[in-house]
Amino acid sequence: MLALESVAAGYGDLVAVRSVSLEIHPGECVALIGANGAGKTTTLRAIAGLLPLRAGRIVFDGRSLGGLNARQIVELGLAHVPEGRQLFPSLTVRENLEMGARTSAARAARRGSLAEVFALFPRLLERERQAAGTLSGGEQQMLAIGRGLMARPRLLLLDEPSIGLAPLAVRSILEIVETVNRRGTTILLVEQNVRRALDLCHRAYVVENGAVTLAGPRDALLRSDHVRQAYLGL
Ligand code: ATP
Repeated sequence: MLALESVAAGYGDLVAVRSVSLEIHPGECVALIGANGAGKTTTLRAIAGLLPLRAGRIVFDGRSLGGLNARQIVELGLAHVPEGRQLFPSLTVRENLEMGARTSAARAARRGSLAEVFALFPRLLERERQAAGTLSGGEQQMLAIGRGLMARPRLLLLDEPSIGLAPLAVRSILEIVETVNRRGTTILLVEQNVRRALDLCHRAYVVENGAVTLAGPRDALLRSDHVRQAYLGL
C-alpha cells in the first residue's frame, strides 16, 4: 500500500531523515520506533506532503507522491494526525470534526462519518458543542484522531497519540487505535513507548539517526537484544 524508498528529508541545513525505506501492506498496523530526534515525525511529515523530499521516492497504491501537495495526498486516502494535535481551540468539537472532511468524497459522507466517530468516541458526542480548547488532553487526542477519520482514509498516520497522557487515557486511546485498525484502516504509528507500540502493531521499524536500522515482526523485535537493551531497558 505504501512504500518509502531511501527517503531523505530535513529542515534547512539539517538532514533529519537520511535514508528511510519501509513498506506497509493493506490492513497492517506498523510502528515507527526510535529515540527522540531520530527522525520519526519528519518521516511522517514527508509522507503527508508537508516536507519536500531531498532524495528517494514515496509510492502509495502504486502512485508516486512526488510533486503532490498535502491536500492532494489526503484526496488519495492518506490522513495525518500530527503530534501536538493542532486542533482549532475556539471551535467546537463538532466543528473541528467537520473540518476533517476535507475531500469532496469525505464531505459527501460527512453525516455517516460523524456518526461513526461519535460511536467510536462517545465522549466526543457528549461534548459535541464544547470548545476544543476546553477538552482534557485525552479528549483532545480523541478529537484529533476523529478529525483524521473524517477524511475517510485508507491509511492513517498517527504521530505519538499517547504523548503526555495519563495511563488510563493512554490505554483508551491505544484501544481505539486497535479498533480502527481492526475495522480496516491501515495504520502507521509513531509511538514513544516501544512496549506499547509492539503490543499494538504487527510490525515495526526502528529509526536511529535518520535511517532504519532494524525492522521486523513484533515478536522478533521483542526478542532482539538491541531493542531489549536500547528501548525496553531489559
Ligand atoms: P521525537 O520523538 O522527539 O518527536 P522524532 O524521531 O520524531 O523525535 P523528529 O521530530 O523527526 O524526530 O526530528 C528529527 C530532527 O530534526 C531533530 O534533530 C529535530 O531537532 C530536527 N527538527 C525537527 N523539526 C524541525 C524544524 N521544524 N526545524 C528544524 N529542525 C527540526
